[in-house]
Amino acid sequence: VLKVENLTKSYSSGGRALTVLESVSFELTAGDTFSIVGPSGSGKTTLLGLCAGLDRATSGSVWLNGVQLDTLSEDQRAAVRNQYVGFIFQNFQLLPTLTALENVQVPLELRGEKGSARAAQELLARVGLAGRGHHYPTQLSGGEQQRVSLARAFANRPTILFADEPTGNLDAETSATVVDLLFELNREAGTTLVLVTHDLELAAKTQRVVRIKGGTMISDSGTPVSSAASSSAL
Ligand code: ATP
Repeated sequence: VLKVENLTKSYSSGGRALTVLESVSFELTAGDTFSIVGPSGSGKTTLLGLCAGLDRATSGSVWLNGVQLDTLSEDQRAAVRNQYVGFIFQNFQLLPTLTALENVQVPLELRGEKGSARAAQELLARVGLAGRGHHYPTQLSGGEQQRVSLARAFANRPTILFADEPTGNLDAETSATVVDLLFELNREAGTTLVLVTHDLELAAKTQRVVRIKGGTMISDSGTPVSSAASSSAL
């Protein structure tokens, strides 16, 4: 479902090239759960953005559901994202002109589901935001916006979900709810999860963990094991 080959990303900074990601390669099969860990500034968010087709690599290739992203225009990449990808990102989240409820309802409506308002309301309740449906994103805290994103991902049932620090600014209880819901989405809809996290407990729940440092992959816990095997090993 996701294949990354020799991915390198450089930014030009003060006339010099700053390489923030160097020759990263891995491959994920549909339904895998995967986390990327590493120190601050090591390139995790950059890697996630490249995998999700939000940004373009300097060199190397990304295949998402068999489509090679680096050969596409921005519009074509957006079409691939709309079709397959869900996001829980700090800065790439909700449609600001729609309420929380509408943000969750839109994907249901697009699929032509009947009773989409009620279904959206139920999803908001699942993430603990039953009473906040009429609020616009700017009227919600960062953690609440993240939970609306998660409800929207449930509505979307994406092939692959990219989440950047999904528990980063949540209290322990909400964080546990979000983690449960992420894995429920994986189990129920077969959504592949790709998480960037500083939370090693969360990383340990995924089938495979990749560690990056200074833009280079320094370890890969290896070939994914089956869900049953990984949960009994924990
Ligand atoms: P954190 O855990 O703190 O979120 P991270 O591992 O996600 O960090 P990235 O956000 O991927 O790290 O950033 C990797 C490096 O790339 C950092 O040194 C950052 O300053 C640099 N960087 C990111 N975006 C840009 C940009 N647009 N222009 C120049 N440098 C950038």
